[in-house]
Amino acid sequence: MQCKCCNREATNEYCGLHERAYANILRKFEIWKHAADLSWEQYLNEIVKNPFTGAWAKEVAERLLNNKE
Ligand SMILES: [Zn+2]
Repeated sequence: MQCKCCNREATNEYCGLHERAYANILRKFEIWKHAADLSWEQYLNEIVKNPFTGAWAKEVAERLLNNKE
C-alpha cells in the first residue's frame, strides 16, 4: 500500500511520518476544540496557514481539506 500523502510505503492510510503527523493533528484538535470554538475544517485551515506547522502535518491537513467525504 502507498501513503495517501506521498509515495512511501504505508501499512495503513499513511506512511510512518504522515501517520504520526495525522495522530498529532487529531490530538491537538481535542485541545483546540475546547480552547477555541473551531470546527474541524477551520482547524485544518489554521494548520495549513500556520508558518510553524511542520511540513508533514501541513501535507496531511491539505489532503484532509481536499478530500472531504
Ligand atoms: Zn507519507
